[in-house]
Amino acid sequence: MPTIEQMSNQFAKEIGSEMDAPSFTAVGEKPKSAFRDYEQAGIDRVRTFYRTNHIHQTLAFVLEKKSHWLAFQQRTMSPWAALEFLNTLVDESDPDIELPQVVHLLQTAEAIRRDGHPDWFVLTGFLHDLGKVLCLFGEPQWAVVGDTFPVGCQHAEEIVFSSYFNENPDAHDPRYNTRLGIYEAGCGLDAVHLSWGHDEYLYHLMKPYLPIEALYMIRYHSFYAWHREGAYGYLTNEQDAENLRWVQAFNPYDLYSKSANPPVLSELRPYYEDLMAKYLPSTLQF
Ligand code: FE
Ligand code: FE
Repeated sequence: MPTIEQMSNQFAKEIGSEMDAPSFTAVGEKPKSAFRDYEQAGIDRVRTFYRTNHIHQTLAFVLEKKSHWLAFQQRTMSPWAALEFLNTLVDESDPDIELPQVVHLLQTAEAIRRDGHPDWFVLTGFLHDLGKVLCLFGEPQWAVVGDTFPVGCQHAEEIVFSSYFNENPDAHDPRYNTRLGIYEAGCGLDAVHLSWGHDEYLYHLMKPYLPIEALYMIRYHSFYAWHREGAYGYLTNEQDAENLRWVQAFNPYDLYSKSANPPVLSELRPYYEDLMAKYLPSTLQF
C-alpha cells in the first residue's frame, strides 16, 4: 500500500504541480501481503481504472486493437530508444509504485541477474513492460496496463474487481458468456484472445527473437487469474501447463523488486546494451 506521502506525490504528478519526487521504500520494509492490496489501499484511481477496463474490453474491442497495433506502423526505434521513450509513463493500474518505468525494469532484471538465472531471463525482466509504449502512441492506460483476462468466454470470479463485468456487454451475450464461449476445451492459450494490453503487444514484437519460456513470461505476466488463481485451466493445453512455471517464476521479480532503491541506469547501461545486442536487432518496428 502506498504511503500517504507517495499518494500525494502521485496526485501532484497527475495535476502537474511541482513537488519533491516520491521517496522510495527500501526492499524488505514492506510485507509481501501489502503488495497488490487494492481493497486496503482504497485507491479510487485503481478502482476507476479497472471499472473502465472491465466495461470496455470486449471480444470486438480486442480484435480491433489487434488488427490496428499488430500492423506495427507507429515508428522504428532501437530497443534502447524505446526504453527511454517509455520512461515518461506512470502506470495508473498499479497500487504499489510510482516509479519511472525504466527503474522498475532495471530492478526486475537486476533481481533476476542476482539469482543467477540465464541471460535471456534477465533480458526478459528488462523488457517485459516495454509494450507500455502503446500509451505513448495514444492508447488509454486502461487498454494497455492492468491484469488481463480472456474475452469471448465467461469472466472468472478470480479476476480482480470481477463485479465490474456486469457492465460489459459480452457478459450478457449468449455467444460469449458461457464457460467456453467461442473456444474449445483444451484449445491452448495461443488460441484464446486476452484483454488487450502491453503483454500481447510485446509478445508479438519479441516473438522472432526470444525463447518460448521468455515469450510466455512476456505474454502472460498480467494474466493473474491463470498464473496465480489457477482459473481457466480448461482452456489451456500441454504447452501452457509446461510453461506456467516460467510465468510463475517471473512474477515475484516483477512484484517484489519494486520498492528497492533505484539502481543507477548509467552504470548498468553497457551490460544491458550488450544483452539487447545479443538477442535483438538494432532497430524494432513498433
Ligand atoms: Fe507488465
Ligand atoms: Fe512489470
